[in-house]
Amino acid sequence: MAGSMLSIGECMVELMQAEAGLLRKGYAGDTFNTAYYARLFLPSDWTVEYLTAVGTDLVSSEMLAFIESTGVGTTHIPRIEGRMPGLYMIHLKDGERSFSYWRSTSAAKLLADDPDRLRAVIEAADVVFFSGITLAILSPNAVETLLSELRRTKAGGKRIVFDPNIRPRLWDDAARMRATIEAGARAATMVLPSYDDEATHFGDASIDATIERYRALGAENVAVKAGANGVTLQFGRDERRHIPAAPVSRVVDTTSAGDSFNGSFLARLAAGDSPADAAAFAARVAAAVIGHHGALVAREKLMVDQID
Ligand code: ADP
Repeated sequence: MAGSMLSIGECMVELMQAEAGLLRKGYAGDTFNTAYYARLFLPSDWTVEYLTAVGTDLVSSEMLAFIESTGVGTTHIPRIEGRMPGLYMIHLKDGERSFSYWRSTSAAKLLADDPDRLRAVIEAADVVFFSGITLAILSPNAVETLLSELRRTKAGGKRIVFDPNIRPRLWDDAARMRATIEAGARAATMVLPSYDDEATHFGDASIDATIERYRALGAENVAVKAGANGVTLQFGRDERRHIPAAPVSRVVDTTSAGDSFNGSFLARLAAGDSPADAAAFAARVAAAVIGHHGALVAREKLMVDQID
């Protein structure tokens, strides 16, 4: 059945060392990466829209053109005079990656500042995805605008998916970070957390504890990602299932493992797969993604023939 997915958050300009003295430019961000992988694997009668905010500058125009080139829609993205996209640089030293960010005044921070637009865009979607990073970049007022709209939509029976994606660097206060992540989960029907982050920031002693905590907050469906230890599913009252990770011959770059899992998992659920089948498929996609450099791996490189 045809449908539409909406992902909400920030896409940034990415600068990565290509060779000595040369930087390669790309575009990435957790919620955009998820939209990208959802688009790769959703049925063709589904649309994927991205909601962020950009400026009126040249870089913003290039970013929109790039997003569109991946098949993800940009129809609802407002252009804000005087603002520009956020930017980050990847440093590679002895095989270790580290990041510098310039995002404190990015246009995306204003993505929820027009409540009427927000309501219309969310109402038009069948599945809505957002993350803890989406919440981290917004002002407290904008967080409330977004979450109250999502809660309203959840009450109307729509699928609202939240990846806590906990990034303490983006929050000035740990208690506010935890409270806002919890509020995000309350507005969601499905939560896709990463166990390591949850254990570190919420003190969960086990994957079961993470599942129970998010279910108690009101998320009916939870899929806890645990890197090479696979994913654990609790969907409604179904039996709890563990889906092992798919083998990876050589881990090249783990960037976007979680995002590619999210996007392909949601795509297969939308196509009608059972949660276990969708998770097994998504584990194969994530394994293929971490065998390649970069957040957005081309479909050909993922050898989807073998995945399908
Ligand atoms: P995040 O990037 O959100 O922290 P994870 O690291 O848990 O997410 O990875 C998401 C999914 O990617 C896992 O559930 C698993 O299927 C796959 N994955 C991650 N790391 C590995 C690995 N080393 N080997 C195989 N699969 C992996």
